[in-house]
Amino acid sequence: MNYCARCLYPENAKPYIIFDDQGVCSGCRVAEAYDQVDWPQRERLLRETLQGYQSRARDAHAHYDCIIPVSGGKDSHYQVHLIKNVYGLNPLLVTYNHLFNAPLGLRNLENLFQRMSCDLVRFSSGPETVRKISKHMLKQVGDPTWHYHAGILTVPIQMAVRFNIPLIIWAENNFSNLVGTFNPQDMVEFSRKHRKDFGLRGVEADELIGPDSGLEWSDIGPFLYPDDDDIERVGVRGIYLSNFIRWNEHEQALAMHRTYDFQPSATTRERTFNRYAKLDDLHANGVHDYLKYLKFGYGRATDDASTHIRAGLMTREQGIELVRKHDHARPSDLETWLDFVDMSESEFFASIDALRDPQIWDRAPDGQWIATDSVANHIDGPAVTDARLPLKPNANYDFPRGRYAMSDPRWLLEYDGYKYL
Ligand SMILES: [Zn+2]
Repeated sequence: MNYCARCLYPENAKPYIIFDDQGVCSGCRVAEAYDQVDWPQRERLLRETLQGYQSRARDAHAHYDCIIPVSGGKDSHYQVHLIKNVYGLNPLLVTYNHLFNAPLGLRNLENLFQRMSCDLVRFSSGPETVRKISKHMLKQVGDPTWHYHAGILTVPIQMAVRFNIPLIIWAENNFSNLVGTFNPQDMVEFSRKHRKDFGLRGVEADELIGPDSGLEWSDIGPFLYPDDDDIERVGVRGIYLSNFIRWNEHEQALAMHRTYDFQPSATTRERTFNRYAKLDDLHANGVHDYLKYLKFGYGRATDDASTHIRAGLMTREQGIELVRKHDHARPSDLETWLDFVDMSESEFFASIDALRDPQIWDRAPDGQWIATDSVANHIDGPAVTDARLPLKPNANYDFPRGRYAMSDPRWLLEYDGYKYL
């Protein structure tokens, strides 16, 4: 397996990654390209765009200027902070309740609602429907969280049509930014195709219906994209803030903690060192990330460490140590999730067999699966030396102790003895 000489991604990274002659991946090259953007010009463009939609809403005596899809996490806080408190729009917040809520996630959603004082629509799917979809999509594509993505990528569009609100403001185009699908010059916007390809794993909701899944037409309401005629009539348009504002999730998380009391995880997490992202889910996200490892041989620590390496916050060697610690970890709550979907452990692992990437997994004669490679086998070499980025002057990750200094924004990541200040 080839691994990027700068970050930690393997060549089978999803959805699609390419390597250049220097052995550096498309995600790293696109991250470099973001450094070249004229950000003041982009910010002016954002301001003009928002003002245009706000004038239009006022002329139409509309209640809302835009929709912001939210989960309640750090990005949600930052989106609403910018749109309401910096640019002065009146957004309608829309959230999709995937039913696997963690107390901290619910607390942060409530915090967002109270602190920002916006109107909020929360759409919940029925538990039996979620159970059926989770089980079916685990077997089909190895992802029990399909409904998370389908819900949050569809319900806001339905609300845009229902309430006649053309502008939807998303945070970061992170599905494609990790692997560098689009350049910053593309100014890519939300689209139905983009949603299906990157968010829904190529599966639209009506394809779920049938005897295998036990799902019926009445189950898939929140996941059906509005008709083209309705989209056109309202003029629905989805923009990503990361095309207009220099995105720095580490600093944004800290700023949202300090300003609005967004809370990161107080405890060490099993499958990543990152304490401030993906906090809303109690069980299925761990299973989702573990499945990525079982299918492709890498997990969330690879995603998070690669982002940090590209930002000059961590060396590649430090990232590899974190990947060794976290990527293969079996979630301790796997049984809880299996109970919810009514599936045995052997059924769970058997359902993954056909989805394991043969580029990375071999099966021993005794039936055990063995990962044939890892980024830990590709620590150094001339390409790694050539591709190395300088660390930022304030990158003071205290690696042996697994924490940052308290004076550093990144203390939100791994800090043993974390306490709320
Ligand atoms: Zn890379």
